[in-house]
Amino acid sequence: MITEISDSFYRITLPMPFRLRHVHAYALIDGGRVALFDTGMHMPGAFEKLEADLQSIGRSIESIRDIYLTHVHTDHCGMSGTIQEKSKARIHLSEVAHQVHAHFQKADYLIAQARLFYARHGMSARDVEAIVEEIEDMKSRIPQFAVNTFFQKNDVIQFGNRSFEVIFTPGHAAGHVCFFFRDEGLLLAGDHVLPYIAPSLSPNIYDEIFQPLKSYLESLTVIEKLPINTIHPGHGNSLTSIDERIREIRTHHALKKEVLLKSLSNRPKTTYTICSEMIGAAAANWDDWEKFMALNETYVYLQELKHDGSIEENMMDSVLFYTAV
Ligand SMILES: [Zn+2]
Repeated sequence: MITEISDSFYRITLPMPFRLRHVHAYALIDGGRVALFDTGMHMPGAFEKLEADLQSIGRSIESIRDIYLTHVHTDHCGMSGTIQEKSKARIHLSEVAHQVHAHFQKADYLIAQARLFYARHGMSARDVEAIVEEIEDMKSRIPQFAVNTFFQKNDVIQFGNRSFEVIFTPGHAAGHVCFFFRDEGLLLAGDHVLPYIAPSLSPNIYDEIFQPLKSYLESLTVIEKLPINTIHPGHGNSLTSIDERIREIRTHHALKKEVLLKSLSNRPKTTYTICSEMIGAAAANWDDWEKFMALNETYVYLQELKHDGSIEENMMDSVLFYTAV
């Protein structure tokens, strides 16, 4: 489905396999040229769908001159390489996103790091191997592409008679950015603000200094200050009740953090144990990936509580344990 969101500006909905089922790319037209914001996932049918949707507005893959990426999760950047090969499009992203992408590409190193990281958080060898399998599977979806420019903070980019600002919004992913079209009050938000779910938060296993929740909440404040009329997200419907949605997301995180704190006592527990207790019986219906995402989120809240001074972290036999203070 292709939808006109503004004059010569389109939302293209592409398939993806996970629960969300779809991801949006956005195409800005200037005469025969197309700027594409995110690319969708590299999977059967996605390229054909993008091609057909562009054809329906009289353009083609070859018309794509520039690709602007919000972040390098595979559902947002997966087709970058294939498109670039066909159209010679220039690719633009943040320098941090580029570093994350470089890490993804060194899969063996990533797997070794992941084994260490998740074992330290109390995951059993069986569960660690399930995650390794997921990473192996993801390897095939990680595109190779050449980068043309890195965004600078507050960059203003001109495309035809439109200009947009690059807003740095780390949190959901390190190096995440949004694109703000000030004249129209239009924000392409990637995965920074989503309509139905709070964007997932994960550790950067290469950088344990990075605090995803803290960064994320700060990046919400950045968005709150912009005169936005409509948010066009990477998944789901566009949003106009922006303050309300941001409030909901803030409340969601505050509540989850509070519930997690209450589940802690003076008995030391690992991130894995805490997460399993939180999921409870529902775990029977969850797949390995969902449990993995829940573990990541538990880690994110624990890290925050540790920084707040509400909990203590201790290492025993190379495993981290948490207790309430
Ligand atoms: Zn994402």
